[in-house]
Order: sequence, then structure tokens, then C-alpha cells
Amino acid sequence: MSFSPAAGGAGRYAPSPSGDLHLGNLRTALLAWLFARSSGRRFVMRIEDLDRARDAGNAESQLADLASIGLDWDGDPVWQTDRGPAYEAAIEQLRERDLVYECTCTRRDILAAPTAPHAPPGAYPGTCRDRSDAERAAARAAIHPRLPALRLRAQDLQAPGELTQMEIPDRLLGTLHGDIDDFVLRRGDGTIAYNLAVVVDDAAMGIDQVVRGDDLASSTPRQVLLQQLLGLPTPEYAHVPLVLGPTGARLAKRDGAVTLRQLQDQGAKPEQVLTLLAQSLNLTRDLTNPEETVSATQLLERFDAELLPKTPWVWNGSAAASAISTTASERE
Ligand code: GLU
Repeated sequence: MSFSPAAGGAGRYAPSPSGDLHLGNLRTALLAWLFARSSGRRFVMRIEDLDRARDAGNAESQLADLASIGLDWDGDPVWQTDRGPAYEAAIEQLRERDLVYECTCTRRDILAAPTAPHAPPGAYPGTCRDRSDAERAAARAAIHPRLPALRLRAQDLQAPGELTQMEIPDRLLGTLHGDIDDFVLRRGDGTIAYNLAVVVDDAAMGIDQVVRGDDLASSTPRQVLLQQLLGLPTPEYAHVPLVLGPTGARLAKRDGAVTLRQLQDQGAKPEQVLTLLAQSLNLTRDLTNPEETVSATQLLERFDAELLPKTPWVWNGSAAASAISTTASERE
């Protein structure tokens, strides 16, 4: 089974510019690129900088790392901080259908509120959903100078009193199931929520294939619901297993040399790091010489989504890094 090649379709990588990409991020980017390019799609970049002040330096260094392992992309990266009017227009479109309401709850309010019988933990209890104009004005005044968040009236869309349910096919995970509560579209501080921004941007960028870490799989039902409400197409999804550190927790800075630069400081070359990533994706089975490396273009020729491991890759930093540096020093 393979993705249908789409004329004019695109895949994407959408890093948050919060520091150098680690092996897990690089591996997801590589996969997104392989899925897109092997199915004849364009590949585009989006810098997801809504959550932090625009940091061009971080994004530039992430893009440089992606380029140095051999990935390329079409056109200039899109920065989410340039896209405010498009997000506001989407909120307006939902508001016109009475699908948006103001919420003055704090996190603590939500935790303290009684939850509906079958609601998953953390689901929004609906406290602010059915306020009259007068109640809403009073609630706004009570939190001044804080401003209300905006939530989507997602619950009840299929049946009164029920969370909206969604099932989405995923290339690697099978079927994603989601019970969707009234989630936030715009936070009280004015920041656009991730789910809204992604949906608006993916559609505007012509993306019909989303490949990303499986930590985001649980966001997908919300995004698909938003696509449906905004009249936007739903892309194909492939959520890829994460990279874990030696303790089994998600790979992080504490796990030693985990970024391209750190590995380069230990003597690794970008093509060796790419080869390590390729090994973890079962794409180097035909290499016989342990010193042999592969290029991104060679990986594209041999890419087979069926061979991808369905479980996380555990990065045992010290063993792998010493293998790299031994090879590097032997060559000198
Ligand atoms: N910016 C997100 C991240 O770096 C990815 C969002 C997405 O791919 O939808 O984890």
C-alpha cells in the first residue's frame, strides 16, 4: 500500500523554533521528506513560532541542519507569526455559525469543575458554553484585565450532551479515535491555538499529507473536525514513532549528544548521522561495510513505508556515538 501520488499535493515539516533539532526531530523530518518526495509531492517548511517570540536564529539553524543531512524543500518557509489575519478569518467564519464562545475559566477552574460522566480526563466541562449576553459581560468584567479565551462549540455537534467522535485513518497507526471536547481556538493572551493554526496553514499551503511525531496523533481528531467545519480538505496522516532516550523517556537534551551539532562536535559527519537515522528506519539493510554511508537521494530510491518500524527507536547515545567517532578516527 502506498500513498496515491497527488498532482500538486504537498507534504511538510513544521518545526517549533525552540532550539536545535534532536535526532527524533531530524528523523521525523527525514520521514516527512521521504513520504512526500517518494510520492511525487512538493515538500514545504513551516516555522511554528506562535508560542514564542520570533527567533529567526533558531529557525535558521534548524533549517541549516535539515539541509546538511540532505533534505530540500520548495519555496520559502512559512512563518506562523506572519499568518495572523488568516487565523482570525477562520475564527470569524466559525463565529458566524455560532460555533465559538468566550471562556473565562482558568486551568484551576477546569480541574475543579465536575466532569460529565463519560468525559475523558481534562475535557472541558462546558462551564462557559451557554451563557447569556449579560452573564458573558459579567464574566468578562470579573477577569479584567485578563481577556477570555475562545473555544469551539465542538461538543454536541453529533448528539446533545455527548463529545463529538471522530475516526481517522493513519498510515502507520491504523485508526485514530478521538472524543472531542470544546477546545481552545485562541488563548486569553491572544495567541492562536496550535490546532487552529495547523489546520488553516496546512490548507493554505496545499498540504495533503501530514507526517509527524506520534505525540501529535491525539490532536488529529480536533484538527479534522476543524477542517470539516471550515470546509477544508483532510490530508492523509502518518504519525511516526518517537525516539526515546536510554531510560525509555522521550529523547531530550539530558541524553547527551542528541543534536547534529553535538554529534559533529564528537567527530560525526552529517552523512553518518543520516545513515544512523536510516538504519533506525530499516533502510540500510543492503549496506555491507559498516563505514558506508547513504545520501538522502539514495534513501529516496529505496524508501519503503512498509519496512518502517512501528515501535519507538531507543537511542543509546554512548554506544552509537562511539561507533561514529571510531569510524571517524579510523578514516583520518
Ligand atoms: N510544531 C510541531 C512540533 O514541532 C509540529 C506540528 C505538526 O507537525 O503538526 O512538534
